[in-house]
Amino acid sequence: MNKRDYYEILGVSKTADDKEIKSAFRKLAKQYHPDINKSPDAPEKFKEAQEAYAVLSDPEKRSQYDKYGHAAFDQMNGGAGFDFSDFDFSDIFSDLFGSAFGGFSGFGGSRGQSRSRARRGSDRLMKVDLTFNEAVFGCKKTINIDFYDECDSCDGKGGKGEKKCPSCHGAGVINTEQSTLFGTFMSRTTCPNCKGSGTIYESTCSKCRGTGKLRKNKDLEVKIPAGVDTGNQLRLSGKGDSGLNGGPNGDLYLEFRVRDHELFERDGNDIYLELPITITDAVLGCKKDIPTLYGNVKLNIPEGTNSGDKHRLKGKGIEDLHTGTKGNMYVVINVVIPNKLDKKQKKLFEELDDTNLKTSAFKTIEDYLKKNK
Ligand SMILES: [Zn+2]
Ligand SMILES: [Zn+2]
Repeated sequence: MNKRDYYEILGVSKTADDKEIKSAFRKLAKQYHPDINKSPDAPEKFKEAQEAYAVLSDPEKRSQYDKYGHAAFDQMNGGAGFDFSDFDFSDIFSDLFGSAFGGFSGFGGSRGQSRSRARRGSDRLMKVDLTFNEAVFGCKKTINIDFYDECDSCDGKGGKGEKKCPSCHGAGVINTEQSTLFGTFMSRTTCPNCKGSGTIYESTCSKCRGTGKLRKNKDLEVKIPAGVDTGNQLRLSGKGDSGLNGGPNGDLYLEFRVRDHELFERDGNDIYLELPITITDAVLGCKKDIPTLYGNVKLNIPEGTNSGDKHRLKGKGIEDLHTGTKGNMYVVINVVIPNKLDKKQKKLFEELDDTNLKTSAFKTIEDYLKKNK
């Protein structure tokens, strides 16, 4: 059979722009949509127009067609012309016929939910709690996951005793003829008995109640890399739900929630530690043992230290998840003023006060007061 030229089908010139092509197709779709036009050649005409539009509305496919004609698509589809089963016509059909027609079925597509079609399993997301150290250094965890697997009692079919559907004789669709005064009309609908699969079962599988899937759980040994943080996800390829009818498995995503550390605060790959010191340590200076992620270090705190002074410990932060370089640790000083003094301490402070302690900050205020008297 000689295929008609796509431009001729839509009734547009070879130089037609996108707007002309779309409006020509809309006109034909309105005229031949099998839900509207019940004449026997309508489905074929409609399909022809869909195919022409699917090619000519796509600039890349149109230029291929302009160069090679139908041969451009014949090779990849066994001589059957351009396969437009995945083309999305919904924008056109919904504004032509309302949304009820959006998911048009029956022609040119394999959208029916056939049970025998291979389907990829669903992805799953699981939250995993980690301690601060598990997140920082990485760890091995045994995680109990819950997933859907193909039912082993019915091999995922949902039933037993497979038979060809008697209503449609295995075709999945039913053609009905209607004789009227104006002639015989044919219409084609998805078979309600087998829902388009062409197959029925003598009995529903009792184990999976006909769904073909069973909920199972198993322990999975997972290696969690060093440096993960709250909200990071780890994808475990193929560890989600099982695929059906030979389809691939879905993926499993682990999303981490990292618990707080009792001392350290994390900011990206940097670590903050608040170090409380006494007023005498702050005034006279001191040496302190500081806990870090990598063991204790000695920190020199100079005399005259203030609250909020920051000391950087280079490279004592967290190893970056991707680059492996380490962040820094910051020790932030907090000078704690004593709120309980014994007699002796009180006396010493009073003596100290008599020496008229001055700082540069006091000086500026006194200067200001003097000037503005
Ligand atoms: Zn059937
Ligand atoms: Zn089953």
